Amino acid sequence: MSLIVQKYGGTSVGNPGRIKNVAARVKRFREEGNQVVVVVSAMSGVTDGLIKLAREVHAAPDDREMDMLLATGEQTTIALTAMALHGMGVKAVSLTGAQAGIVTDGVHTKAKIANITPKRIHELLKEGNVVIVAGFQGADEAGHITTLGRGGSDLTAIALAAAIKADLCEIYTDVDGVYTADPRVVKAARKLEEISYDEMLELASLGAKVMQSRSVEFAKKFKVVFSVRSSMNDNPGTIVKEETRKMEDVVIRGVSADKNQAKVTITQVPDKPGVAARIFKAIADAHVNVDMIVQNVSASGHTDMTFTVGKDDLPKARKVIEALAKEVGATGFACTEGIAKLSVVGIGMRSHTGVAADLFEALAAEKINIQMISTSEIKISVIIDLAHADRAVNAVHKKFGLG
Ligand code: ADP
Ligand code: ASP
Ligand code: MG
Repeated sequence: MSLIVQKYGGTSVGNPGRIKNVAARVKRFREEGNQVVVVVSAMSGVTDGLIKLAREVHAAPDDREMDMLLATGEQTTIALTAMALHGMGVKAVSLTGAQAGIVTDGVHTKAKIANITPKRIHELLKEGNVVIVAGFQGADEAGHITTLGRGGSDLTAIALAAAIKADLCEIYTDVDGVYTADPRVVKAARKLEEISYDEMLELASLGAKVMQSRSVEFAKKFKVVFSVRSSMNDNPGTIVKEETRKMEDVVIRGVSADKNQAKVTITQVPDKPGVAARIFKAIADAHVNVDMIVQNVSASGHTDMTFTVGKDDLPKARKVIEALAKEVGATGFACTEGIAKLSVVGIGMRSHTGVAADLFEALAAEKINIQMISTSEIKISVIIDLAHADRAVNAVHKKFGLG
């Protein structure tokens, strides 16, 4: 008998038929004698719909009330999944995040899990129940409902697997596993048998939405081995785990594109000590995360300074720069959302040369201009025009022979 955590994403529970499909799968595992904890997301489109509703009653809704609202999405699915199991003669009980013992800090809409007390889960399992836990949510010490950031049901599953010391953790989604690129964008993308935590983490933070990046960070920290697989078939998925020697032989594991980026350029900034510090201190004080920064070569004592931020943060960044540009003596500034960040990722990059050259060649052959470049040990990212993003991903995927 194994203790299994299974997480089903939004599409996998997107309608009553799909919920019954999930229940049938859970029943199968249960009948094989396993104990099963199921984590479910809100039905697909529900979270987006709730956010839209909120904005219709207030332009900038309060974060606490936002969490109260968003948590209802997952609460709907847990109850429906329990009912579907009951209909198949399987004992099942649903729990909200708080009822499952998930305690978070008080940072509404992006709370971090502080601790999990799975006493109730263990009791219910012992009584022969399938336990269905609402993903994406918890409660702080004072009992206020919190949520864990978009895609946060992945984190709920991984954290629960660690807390109850599960034998197996499976993330069920609408594709067969983690691919060399988003299979909806690159038809030739190939499913990976395995991938290291570090590569999965980079791909996730660089735009591959198949796993929430915070959940991968958590899995790495607590050594939770998990698989990503399809809820629609029985194909083996992708195993995400600690890296092995063999993994280093592959130079590029995957390509990703992040289309949620924006770019700010401040023109003709006086090139003297302290200016960059002032600009980026003001941006940081507004809680805006800056990603890439490029400063042009100085001409006649002035330079252009360009940086990228998440699209959602652009209004905040614009407000800061509006106030600051004149103050630091710049002649103006420009903001654009029309960019994408394309990245290649692989731990083999540590020991192989020429990756950057190949990447730039692939883009050159497509006549795609590179606006900014940044590198780390296991990734290279470039900023390009948003309109070329899908074509670029396909070209780069082909250049590195990933198909
Ligand atoms: P869920 O609702 O199950 O959490 P998501 O929509 O969050 O599912 O993530 C699955 C989606 O991630 C897939 O439908 C796919 O289009 C996208 N995706 C992006 N990059 C990749 C990749 N490298 N491998 C697999 N899927 C990817
Ligand atoms: N329902 C939440 C979202 O759409 C959490 C999740 O699906 O993982 O972001
Ligand atoms: Mg997801």
